[in-house]
Amino acid sequence: MKATAAGHTMRAVLVPRHLRAAPPTRGQAVHRQHGQTMGTTWSVSWVGVAGVDAAAVRHVVARELHIVVDQMSTWEPTSSLCTYNSAPACTWVPIPDALRGVLQAAQQMSQASGGAFDASAGPLVALWGFGAQRGHGEAGFAPPSEDTLARTRACCGWQRLRLGADGAWQPGGLQLDLSAIAKGHAVDRTCDRLRALGLHGVLVEIGGELRGHGTKPDGQPWWVAIEPPPGSTEPAPVLAAHHVAVATSGDYRRGYRDTSGRWRSHTIDPRCGRPIHNGVVSVTVVHALCMLADAWSTALTVLGPESGLALAQQHQLAARIVAQDRHGVPREVTSPAWRDLLD
Ligand code: AMP
Ligand code: MG
Repeated sequence: MKATAAGHTMRAVLVPRHLRAAPPTRGQAVHRQHGQTMGTTWSVSWVGVAGVDAAAVRHVVARELHIVVDQMSTWEPTSSLCTYNSAPACTWVPIPDALRGVLQAAQQMSQASGGAFDASAGPLVALWGFGAQRGHGEAGFAPPSEDTLARTRACCGWQRLRLGADGAWQPGGLQLDLSAIAKGHAVDRTCDRLRALGLHGVLVEIGGELRGHGTKPDGQPWWVAIEPPPGSTEPAPVLAAHHVAVATSGDYRRGYRDTSGRWRSHTIDPRCGRPIHNGVVSVTVVHALCMLADAWSTALTVLGPESGLALAQQHQLAARIVAQDRHGVPREVTSPAWRDLLD
């Protein structure tokens, strides 16, 4: 955030370096459709194109979201992911292509983040009250004992998952959770199909993760406000969503205070099996692919400001990490690639 000579704070503006010039489609209207999916909301905005009506757009969105839920949801007992999770030990479970692609990306993320991102943390997510069964708000929920935690951790580990020609290997008790990456993938595939339909100027958003292409009829990009952390008094930075995606993970978004008053985040540090306790309030990542923006924002949330920033730098990721300092004051750190986006 910059201060002017008069002492006012100016809004930070992030613009991708590589603008793709395309003539503005003057005279066309901007359309918008929205709905609900995956326990959250979706919206699509697009610049009108002859031959593509709102019904065609809704049809594409419904089809792509259905594919993601049907293959990757931990909340739909009949999804391909749930079928894998409940498969007998030592079996190959056939998996559809989209799920395979997301699992491959998840495995690469685990490798790149030293296990901070781990799709096999599903049982730990459930243990701390964030799974599809017995949530932290329900009667009978209690945080796990040390014994239970140790036993559950023994079933986890991304290295236990193998992908082969016959599908995914279920070694026994491996429970995958793709909630930290599937939404971003859903944004990507919806965006890709809408562009294939002939839309040039399009912005797709699911639960705050979004990706934009092209420009609006006046030649302006899709300007999107980047969620400020709670309590922030500074104006929200805005990003030109021009052939880029952005995702935010936030500790404050989902969590609860346990009986001792301690905040339990829905982000688990798979390396110790417990909710993160590193002061991170939110992480925002800008990336060409929403799937990777989504996954990286979760990974950096686990890693925290120091290691997270170092890894972001190493991978030339545009990332902003907001974390509380020793006095509980939120401070932001940004990677060089993020600062490159600032004009
Ligand atoms: P996100 O909001 O994208 O950061 O995703 C958070 C969700 O991903 C949580 O609600 C869990 O279901 C799951 N999750 C929690 N911790 C991890 C982790 N370390 N790696 C992968 N997924 C996780
Ligand atoms: Mg994520």
